[in-house]
Amino acid sequence: MHSFTYDRAESAADAVRALAAPGATALGGGTDLLVAMKEAIAKPEVLVDLRHIPGARDIELRDDGSARIGCAVRLADLAAHAGITQRYAALAQSAAAAGTPQLRTMGTIGGNLAQRPRCWYFRGALPCFKNGSADCLAERGENHYHALFTDGTCHAVHPSDPLVALTALEATVEITGPTGVRSATLKALFERAAQNPHGEMTLAAGEFISAVLLPATAAGGEQYYEKLMQRGAWDFATVSLAAHRRSDGAVRIALGGVSLGPWRVNSSVEEDVATGGLDDDSIDALAERAMYDARPLEHNGYKVWQAQALLRRAMRRLDPK
Ligand SMILES: Cc1cc2nc3c(=O)[nH]c(=O)nc-3n(C[C@H](O)[C@H](O)[C@H](O)COP(=O)(O)OP(=O)(O)OC[C@H]3O[C@@H](n4cnc5c(N)ncnc54)[C@H](O)[C@@H]3O)c2cc1C
Repeated sequence: MHSFTYDRAESAADAVRALAAPGATALGGGTDLLVAMKEAIAKPEVLVDLRHIPGARDIELRDDGSARIGCAVRLADLAAHAGITQRYAALAQSAAAAGTPQLRTMGTIGGNLAQRPRCWYFRGALPCFKNGSADCLAERGENHYHALFTDGTCHAVHPSDPLVALTALEATVEITGPTGVRSATLKALFERAAQNPHGEMTLAAGEFISAVLLPATAAGGEQYYEKLMQRGAWDFATVSLAAHRRSDGAVRIALGGVSLGPWRVNSSVEEDVATGGLDDDSIDALAERAMYDARPLEHNGYKVWQAQALLRRAMRRLDPK
């Protein structure tokens, strides 16, 4: 592993200043970054530790049902927090489903969103698009765990469980940088996920995710997270799903393991699920419609069936009857 220096940011301004330097990279719990450095797919000069910024480890639940989750809140704390479990069950369940107890104890929500893909070509430092080459090696290679929805540039998937729940809950992120504080939707944050070889999030130099923001509509209703894995525990999702029937009756459904960014199912499917009264035939038809644009590769067609199975289950569970 090459040499680097460690910089502990004591304030958001400190972090912005340090991150603006060439070769500087944000550090959360280090559970992905340090591994990526050992794999030689990340070579930062300076690690800027965000965990000591005031408020970075705080969970603030507001009276109107909204919440602010600091970037350095650990996944274990999210999973166990009474207010998060009560209000945003899907998020708590997704945090509990991530990795191992050790990873959840160290891993932060900011780092979880920013973690790099697990594609074996990328992680193996092979000459793939994300490692600076022109081609995606998975497209015609070993693509069992790869994406169903891509623009063709890179076929990796985003490995985060919480990202899926946050997508269904319509969370946004607070971004702090040299020009101040701004917010972005998850869709905007990941809009160039495939095209950018250096990371999946669209952040300017000096910017970092300072918090995750949950809107009031994310609280309560019927919500859950479900994850399919190749083995029973400690694995990444092959496909996962987060579903939310909001208190106002609207339905939001997101899938994981199918794309390199957040993936919400077609809004017309969500609207039909919200209307309810679905029988087996209409549930089958909606599950097919939700996956209509999927473009499986040679070895990952099973993911379409997995996604449809999860979708059918979600439609039955969310039906208002
Ligand atoms: C064996 C294994 C199994 C795993 N299984 C799962 C799983 O099932 N589900 C799942 O969701 N995850 C899984 N993970 C990933 C794990 O959850 C992440 O490694 C962890 O969440 C990353 O958090 P961190 O704080 O340690 O990030 P770090 O390792 O510190 O950072 C990761 C990346 O995020 C950047 N970063 C950190 N914080 C910020 C910020 N606030 N703003 C901008 N960029 C930032 C860093 O620069 C780096 O690029 C697994 C990891 C391993 C090693």
